Amino acid sequence: MHKQNKDAFIRHVMMQHLAHLLPREIAEYLEQQDQLRSVDDDLATAIEDWNKKISVQSYWQGVFNDYEEKKYQALLERYKQALFGKRQLKINYEDLPEPVIFNPFGLVVRNSQYFFAGSYGDSQEPNLLPVNKLHALSLTESPALTPEADFDLEAFSETYLNHPVSPHLIKHLIVEFPEKSYFYVKSHPIRCKKFILSEPQGSPGYFNLEAFDVPNTIKLQRWLSGFHDDAQVLRPAFLRRQINRSYVDQLTNLYNRNAFDRLGQREVERYYRNNDCHFSLLVMDIDHFKTINDQHGHIFGDEVLVKVAECFRGYDAIRYGGEEFAVLLPETRAKQAHIAAERIRKNIERLSLKNDQRQPVPVTISIGIAEFPIHLSTSDRKILNAQKHSKSPHQSKSNLMTAITGQADKALYQAKGSGRNQSVIYQADLS
Ligand code: GH3
Ligand code: MG
Ligand code: MG
Repeated sequence: MHKQNKDAFIRHVMMQHLAHLLPREIAEYLEQQDQLRSVDDDLATAIEDWNKKISVQSYWQGVFNDYEEKKYQALLERYKQALFGKRQLKINYEDLPEPVIFNPFGLVVRNSQYFFAGSYGDSQEPNLLPVNKLHALSLTESPALTPEADFDLEAFSETYLNHPVSPHLIKHLIVEFPEKSYFYVKSHPIRCKKFILSEPQGSPGYFNLEAFDVPNTIKLQRWLSGFHDDAQVLRPAFLRRQINRSYVDQLTNLYNRNAFDRLGQREVERYYRNNDCHFSLLVMDIDHFKTINDQHGHIFGDEVLVKVAECFRGYDAIRYGGEEFAVLLPETRAKQAHIAAERIRKNIERLSLKNDQRQPVPVTISIGIAEFPIHLSTSDRKILNAQKHSKSPHQSKSNLMTAITGQADKALYQAKGSGRNQSVIYQADLS
């Protein structure tokens, strides 16, 4: 690599990981330099390769501490050689009696711990090994297998370690506040590139704060936490988990039942404002989950719940009960909701989970679908129509959510009755 490219590479790494620790003057200088550089193929490839293979999470502080220890230096050095030289390793790992072949996919640094990501032997299925459980490691002459094309080191380690990585900058932040906080929030704009406040709507009234490129600082988190659960972080999800803990299920990181009421109300409210805004509700229940627990144990059962929850990524998903989930689909008719439901159902069917003995354990889910308001019972629709023009109280919106959930439940019951592992839309004659 040319000296120029080496310098640019260093600047890139500094900007990506240390910018927040540098004096502003230096950070700005680096940023300027970074923009001036003409992109050269060699450099672009080197940076892309590096980004794919090294994931530094949390703080550099921890990494430096570990460097001081020097304990894993030799292991790490050899691992990097294999990772960038694309060669297989032979490792001795605490849980395994014999040395095994390991294909290095990446290196994850989290707090002061190192993890090696990669697969065993001729499998491409990724694993994450904490370095402190590794007893020995040696390079082989064989070329390593590469991960599947859609392998994403950051996302993989995030889910594997069940510990979200906080970025330094939040690209897009949306927080919902109650009307009473409007003037306070308006007069205390947060540090960001662009800031939008919606007008309060609904009853009780809420408004949204939307901000772009927000530095993710302790100050921001303290400010949001100060509202307690009045401020609901709608996105990003990792911040919601930190701020609105009482609305988040700690096992799966999905919304919990506390949150369901508020989410549902927002949708009913939207319908009041605009009668074209139908929404759909999916109610889901894992098939024969009791058998899974009985055969493989509760700990494995909990792992299944976590993996299933990951299949709801990108949706407003709620862990409704033990192995029951719900997904709210704003502005979605039953027909499109069915398509979404089928996508989720198939993703779960394809999970291919393995128990401790590495035997496959099939997991499927049944889904009931109801569309608001068309699937409400005649009497509930009468209540809805009577209230549409008045400022309807909290209680009635909550009752309407209970009603539509009941209809989706009936469809779920039908799905279970006709063989499970399927999505069923509510029909009046099912009840
Ligand atoms: P079906 O297909 O009819 O839904 O069968 P099922 O076995 O899933 O039905 P059922 O509702 O009777 O069983 C649910 C089981 O889920 C019972 C309980 O042992 C288990 N369960 C509930 N919550 C949890 C949890 O948090 N963790 C684990 N591991 N198991 C749970
Ligand atoms: Mg159940
Ligand atoms: Mg079940």
